[in-house]
Amino acid sequence: AAEEVVAAVTGPGTTADGHAVPLLANVGTPADARDAQGRTEGVGLFRTEVLFLDARTEPGVAEQTAAYAEVIEAYAGRKVVIRTLDAGADKPLAFANQSDEENPALGVRGYRLVRSLPGIVERQLDALGAAVRALPTERQADVWVMAPMIATPAEARAFATAARAAGIVKVGVMVEVPAAALRAEAILAEVDFVSLGTNDLAQYTMAADRLRGELADLLDPWQPAVLDLVRATAEAGVATGKPVGVCGESAGDPLMALVLAGLGITSLSMAAGRVPAARYALRAHTLDACRALAAAALAAPDAETARAAVRDGVTPEV
Ligand code: PEP
Ligand code: MG
Repeated sequence: AAEEVVAAVTGPGTTADGHAVPLLANVGTPADARDAQGRTEGVGLFRTEVLFLDARTEPGVAEQTAAYAEVIEAYAGRKVVIRTLDAGADKPLAFANQSDEENPALGVRGYRLVRSLPGIVERQLDALGAAVRALPTERQADVWVMAPMIATPAEARAFATAARAAGIVKVGVMVEVPAAALRAEAILAEVDFVSLGTNDLAQYTMAADRLRGELADLLDPWQPAVLDLVRATAEAGVATGKPVGVCGESAGDPLMALVLAGLGITSLSMAAGRVPAARYALRAHTLDACRALAAAALAAPDAETARAAVRDGVTPEV
């Protein structure tokens, strides 16, 4: 649809029949958060590692606390999902790098850093807990925390234990490894919510390096196998009554946003600039229409057919 028509639709993310699908921002710094706050309902992914890309040594708890408090304050009264460090593979951090890995994407990255750097996640959680406690109620956000690259329920449990010990109430994990999607109900039994990282979920499902442009056709989040894992995770959320969000870039594709809503995904987080198109698409379709589009996508034999089936099924055009 034309840009001005899309921009004219404002307010929260909902389907045409009023089913809420909050539209949240992916941010990497406090400046990103301030920039996105007028345009989004909350933060669905704060990539904390972005703050520390240039750090030679692990930032102190006080420095981390100040940065987290800035993001929380920017979204006072709204939801902020903070992700613990996702260092490694495509996000090398000087103070947390595993330099001798032959397969860094399959190595000690994300939550797995607890194996090589004891205490790093606890210090980050302590900093976050301190940031929450430092702010008065009127500058407080609804703070959720999640860990990246979780593969097993035992990892989810260990993270939840550490986060609750730091005083954080809402604890979740990312589902971006196929093992976690396949066992989503067992993972959800350990935590309060999950968030699908479709960038890595596509990479690991299709065994295609997310940094290799020539593999883009395989990395496509419309691949039936990726959609199957998203559906399985969403179903686990419905079965357990717990939130299942999506914070991979696929949430910012308006056609995919309709499919995700139809699958029962409870919030969508994306680059702030993608929100108007997703909002417009959702507002033009009922939840039942989204369910029909999701069924059409899931029935398709390949990514191209899935996308085309949804594109042909939407009215008006999004
Ligand atoms: C993802 O993998 O989809 C995700 C949101 O995390 P990142 O892109 O930071 O790995
Ligand atoms: Mg990821």
